[in-house]
Amino acid sequence: MRPEPSELQELVRDLHRQGSAWLPAGLSTRLDWGPPVAGPCTVVSCAGLRGVREFNPGDFTITVAAGTPLVEVQEVLGHQGQWLSVDAPWGDRQGAAAGSIGGLVARGLAGGYRQRYLGVRDQLIGLALMRADGVTARAGGKVVKNVAGYDLMRLFTGSWGSLGLITELTLRTLPQPPLRRSVCFQGGAEDLAGLSRWLLGSSLSPERIDWWNGSLAAASGLDPEPLLLIGLASVDAATLQEQVRCLQERSTLPARVLDATTTGAWLAHARGATATAPAWLLRLGVSPDRLGTLMQAPALAGLAVDMAAGSGLGLAWSDPTELRPALTSSQVSTLRSLCNELGGHLTVLRQPPDAGLPAWLDAPSRPLIEAIKHRFDPAGQLAPGRLPGVAQRLSTV
Ligand SMILES: Cc1cc2nc3c(=O)[nH]c(=O)nc-3n(C[C@H](O)[C@H](O)[C@H](O)COP(=O)(O)OP(=O)(O)OC[C@H]3O[C@@H](n4cnc5c(N)ncnc54)[C@H](O)[C@@H]3O)c2cc1C
Repeated sequence: MRPEPSELQELVRDLHRQGSAWLPAGLSTRLDWGPPVAGPCTVVSCAGLRGVREFNPGDFTITVAAGTPLVEVQEVLGHQGQWLSVDAPWGDRQGAAAGSIGGLVARGLAGGYRQRYLGVRDQLIGLALMRADGVTARAGGKVVKNVAGYDLMRLFTGSWGSLGLITELTLRTLPQPPLRRSVCFQGGAEDLAGLSRWLLGSSLSPERIDWWNGSLAAASGLDPEPLLLIGLASVDAATLQEQVRCLQERSTLPARVLDATTTGAWLAHARGATATAPAWLLRLGVSPDRLGTLMQAPALAGLAVDMAAGSGLGLAWSDPTELRPALTSSQVSTLRSLCNELGGHLTVLRQPPDAGLPAWLDAPSRPLIEAIKHRFDPAGQLAPGRLPGVAQRLSTV
């Protein structure tokens, strides 16, 4: 259902009265990711909640309706030389790329820009939401220096629609960096791990340090060797050049210097693969100092892998052109155990229909997660069976 803003509350109240299960949605581009929602469920789309409500360029904040496409927000900000520091989504402008701001926050995932600008939750300074019973609430504020109170912004980031429907968001914006350049190193995992360790401990502050495995490099038309793509930005050309020089001097690997357009094309090419719906799409996370071990693991065979070196978070996916992917569930389970051993986790975002793996395992904080869910949605109406950090379907109380 795609209610107009004036119809939304009545619709949610009706669903509550009827005890119906329902799923908050943005533009429905990635609703199939993660665990299937249990039983019949009404999808309530935010596509009708669209537009910029308030933009204060002087304060570097913007308030938008949750269903507004990210590309639209970036366009508005771009007119004032500002941007929201998250990666562009994959796919073309009209399709998957038009993912909504609400969907982005509800998933809580961002790309390599996290290295310098932190995660989506760190850009969020306020939100408005609607609970499962139709009650509305606001949290945070509209200024960067925020008021006290419960931090619902962080709670709702990554909630996958399980706690309530986000209706409006206030986000922090940044000036667009005027100058950008990237340096790419290709070589063995040990060399790349050494370089990335040094870089993370250095005074340089790259925008991104993306680590691709050989399969992703090959799929992007490069030599089939692992690579580090280091994105740099500055207001000053000499400073930018100095950062490039530092990197070139540091490594014995040959360095390729790319301008912003070429970097954009590389990233778009790499992400294009995931836009064509691979059979397997996995979210990986390990402790950043163990990333080198992960990248050399035989369990990654058959997957294209794109990891952020600073956070140890990233994605792995099977070749989307393969009708029957060679990767088996037991290989993915082995990979999951490895991620756990390396201080992280694995979330299955997409899998072949007969694979049957749980999207996520129980988090140690499962009792707390369930208690919070119960406070927000006591009848268990929202996204039944889909609660991040809880492997089994929740029994409703
Ligand atoms: C590693 C990684 C990095 C990513 N980086 C980016 C990025 O930088 N930029 C980007 O745009 N996308 C990124 N994505 C995709 C992003 O996470 C979202 O999946 C996408 O933006 C959601 O688009 P949508 O509006 O179609 O949401 P939908 O597909 O409709 O919904 C996605 C999820 O959010 C919930 N949801 C949606 N809207 C609401 C709402 N208003 N209230 C409550 N819950 C809601 C749904 O229940 C569902 O669980 C990334 C994904 C991954 C895996």
